[in-house]
Amino acid sequence: MFGKILLAYDGSETAKNALEQAMELKLMLPDSILEIVHVAQLQNVIVGDAFITSSAVIQDELHDAAEAVLDEARRRISHLGLATTTLLEGGTPAQMILDYVNDHLFDLIIVGSRGLGTFKELLLGSVSYEIVQHATIPVLVVK
Ligand code: ATP
Ligand code: MG
Ligand code: MG
Repeated sequence: MFGKILLAYDGSETAKNALEQAMELKLMLPDSILEIVHVAQLQNVIVGDAFITSSAVIQDELHDAAEAVLDEARRRISHLGLATTTLLEGGTPAQMILDYVNDHLFDLIIVGSRGLGTFKELLLGSVSYEIVQHATIPVLVVK
């Protein structure tokens, strides 16, 4: 059960809580594989009503920022050596994560309920909402 676990990580406080839960689960399931995934959204950046394909310079900056998010996640787990980290670059986070989960046959997705967004009225952010809505495997949502 839960042989392959994917943690979706955006560096937010809630995602850090999700990472803690993922590590506890991994300790309970030593044979399972835990992979931490962060999505850098490089294409179709939305500014106002316009879709903009960002310049190479902006793409480089987004790439570096995304690597920093994963570095930070790695530092949190390094003492345990419990997980691998993967950077996905391209489209919208939820779709990228759902495609990755299907392609790589994960058994469980762990997400934070909210992320870096500032609007906190709703229980779920748009990424966690889309993942819960469309995933075909169990999703653990951590508050
Ligand atoms: P919104 O983005 O809709 O304004 P939000 O930022 O508060 O709202 P989400 O983005 O849905 O909420 O974040 C919920 C969870 O989804 C995060 O805790 C994290 O687990 C995951 N997540 C969000 N963005 C990414 C990303 N770029 N890469 C990987 N996981 C992500
Ligand atoms: Mg967000
Ligand atoms: Mg968002």
